[in-house]
Amino acid sequence: MKKIIAIDGHAATGKSSQAKKIANFFGYNYIDTGAMYRAVTYYCIISDLLSEPINVRTIIERLNKINIEFKISNKSQIILLNGNDVEPFIRKMDVAENVSKIAGIPEVRSFLVKIQRQIAIKNNVVMDGRDIGTVVFPNAKNKFFLTASLEIRAKRRFEELKSSNETIIYSKVLENVKIRDYEDSSRLVSPLKPAKDAIIVETSNLTENEVFERLISLING
Ligand code: C5P
Repeated sequence: MKKIIAIDGHAATGKSSQAKKIANFFGYNYIDTGAMYRAVTYYCIISDLLSEPINVRTIIERLNKINIEFKISNKSQIILLNGNDVEPFIRKMDVAENVSKIAGIPEVRSFLVKIQRQIAIKNNVVMDGRDIGTVVFPNAKNKFFLTASLEIRAKRRFEELKSSNETIIYSKVLENVKIRDYEDSSRLVSPLKPAKDAIIVETSNLTENEVFERLISLING
């Protein structure tokens, strides 16, 4: 097992940006586990598996048809779903609105956790998600849990989505962030919570750079 830096936290706390920067700084691989849950959700959407009521059994049966990999392209990382770059699709609201339901299915979680652990056998990684410090790598030496007020997080996500040209309404983004937090924290399997030994970083009043400096100063070994 190589070195692991685990960054968990609430939705839209800037985990991915921080994890990316830290990975660059140390020359580690960056793994966005949220992108993996989003890619499975996107697969379910395009395969018409999400019409109500959701057919969980069929989703579980289809997992063996899903292949998820990461690839570096133009210095940034993209996620491949069955060989196709799905990066532009997985960030959209239809995925955001369904991902927590998919992430609550235990079989989906064990399918993705297995891939996450495999990646860390060969590579030093900075991994961001919801359960990295609690479940995926409970023995990781460096664990962080990022948080910020709901309004600030929703505002940051709204700006991000706006800049990617999606037609978007702030109140919808706020509602989505709130619901995802609730669903992610209250699910039975691997709920979102800080690991007992995680350092909690409240980012509401910090710039992206200030959060980065803080995290880097706290990383040891
Ligand atoms: O990190 P991001 O906001 O892209 O994650 C999208 C969703 O994926 C989360 O709201 C959560 O439902 C799920 N997720 C998870 N466990 C992880 C990473 C993400 O359940 N390790």
